[in-house]
Amino acid sequence: MFLIRGAEVYAPEPLGRKDVLIGFGKIIRIGEGLPGEYGGLDVDEVDAKDCILAPGFVDQHVHVMGAGGEAGFFSRTPEMQVSAIVSHGITTVVGLHGTDGTARNIEALYAKVCSLEQEGITARMLTGSFEMPSATLTGSVRRDLIFIDKVIGAKTAISDRRSSQPSRSDVEKLLAQAYTGGLVSGKRGYTHFHMGVGRRRLDMLADIIRETEIPPYLIIPTHVNRDEELFVQAMELAKMGAVIDITSGIAPEGGFGGAVKPSDAVVRCLENGVKIQNVTMSSDANGSMAVYDADGRFAGLCVTTVETMHKEFRDLARTKGVTLETALRPVTSSPAAAIGMYPRKGCVAEGSDADLIIMDKELSILKVFAMGRLAADEGGALLKGAFE
Ligand SMILES: [Zn+2]
Repeated sequence: MFLIRGAEVYAPEPLGRKDVLIGFGKIIRIGEGLPGEYGGLDVDEVDAKDCILAPGFVDQHVHVMGAGGEAGFFSRTPEMQVSAIVSHGITTVVGLHGTDGTARNIEALYAKVCSLEQEGITARMLTGSFEMPSATLTGSVRRDLIFIDKVIGAKTAISDRRSSQPSRSDVEKLLAQAYTGGLVSGKRGYTHFHMGVGRRRLDMLADIIRETEIPPYLIIPTHVNRDEELFVQAMELAKMGAVIDITSGIAPEGGFGGAVKPSDAVVRCLENGVKIQNVTMSSDANGSMAVYDADGRFAGLCVTTVETMHKEFRDLARTKGVTLETALRPVTSSPAAAIGMYPRKGCVAEGSDADLIIMDKELSILKVFAMGRLAADEGGALLKGAFE
């Protein structure tokens, strides 16, 4: 058990200076002058005066078992290690397939997600892949949602040269399967759309929101900051009720010319009247980003990294003139709600999971707690995988 003393708590809404008692994986009490013991049990005190306490980050797009492979087998990206995840403040991840859903399979993704949980963080997964019909564990997306605890939604790809060019009917059926599977299993049952910059961009999703009964908040397009035109369209889709996911790993300084810088993208959403609960940010860590020339020929490849989420959050809070509460929402409460895990995740409240970040006033990460355990300290990971 830990008693975090005197931190400025952002839940993400500001709660003021509080003591926070955590134990058994949960936030037990939040108050002032809390006693240094609990029911006769030892409590480790953490002095957090002059520090900020925030929810652990919720990263809804992580290639936990690696991805890539679109330039040949040598271009497969490596698996994520739990130490890399927690040292950048992330305590909940959703694993998913990348371009290659053939040489990599969904069973391996399930195993990796389970291993991350055994190592101490919270991990879930999406069924499906770039291709349709979707790769599944049980034979259908609906059955995966209903019978596999770790599966909370589905994934596919549209408007991208690497997609399987699904029709609108294919996409509607996928949304319906994920939704009804979610209803039966008490999960969100959302669908995550890898977006490319194909000419049709988000047209299909806008038509589906306008013309079907599928709840728009279950439609989550990602990589929406990939270029200006896609991003402008995404803001309109968010105003129609979709949740748009900005990729922190896609930034002009990361070699993505034409991309909208992730922290700027959040500011522009706010200026354009998009509700902050409809805006999330994810890292796309360990995904490969292919670069193509004007004729569509493969021109290069890089791997996205996990630290970008904290970096863009920090940029947003420190240099873009938004409040700390607003800067925290796209990396905490908004994604937690979008994937159906709020308020267990993405918030500092009694009864929520003890996933917490302690930061200094410059918003550098000092300590990370995952499910009540000290996972990282002074930037170094304490949680490690079996072979790290
Ligand atoms: Zn990805």
